[in-house]
Amino acid sequence: MLDELKANNRAWAARKIASDPSFFRRLVAQQAPKYLWIGCADSRVPANEIVGLDPGELFVHRNVANLAPPQDANYLSVLQFAVDVLKIQHIIVVGHYGCGGVAAAVDGRRRGLVDHWLHPIRETYRAHKAELEAIPVLQTRLNRLCELNVISQVRNVAADVFVQTAWDRGQELAVHGWVYSLENGLVTDLNIRISNPDELAALQV
Ligand code: ZN
Repeated sequence: MLDELKANNRAWAARKIASDPSFFRRLVAQQAPKYLWIGCADSRVPANEIVGLDPGELFVHRNVANLAPPQDANYLSVLQFAVDVLKIQHIIVVGHYGCGGVAAAVDGRRRGLVDHWLHPIRETYRAHKAELEAIPVLQTRLNRLCELNVISQVRNVAADVFVQTAWDRGQELAVHGWVYSLENGLVTDLNIRISNPDELAALQV
């Protein structure tokens, strides 16, 4: 099985060079992506492929259920490097409908460590209990929770000290929220664009 992957790799690198002989030389010289993608680790949500971007064009952080917890050193390291060094202009939090992490957060089963990781989603559920429990179909309710989770993570990112400091020094930086559909491959823009503290203060949820 791994031999197949290595063969795929050689074919991919050869195709890249055939269509653009200086492709890898350029990448070695510089990494200058304009976007940071914070998405779910789910194998069906391949960041670059979904938005048609090449290596070098998208800085990517993925974890279970696309969370941006303000205590997570991994996420914070990515965020600081993206904002302070790469001068990323857009941070996109991308959830997806049918997210197993979101479903697991609220199904009442105990799984161990991941229950701690998913805790912020239970908090979001609690904050929107009335709205969510008025939705009769479970999958529809969970999909709404996927959206609310994205909005909550957008708030975390925009409220972070690295982002706030970037705005203070006049750096152009916007935080967005999207949800990807596994069923048709399309992204839904939740129409959130936070590019300054006033827009953050006005964000509902
Ligand atoms: Zn997921």
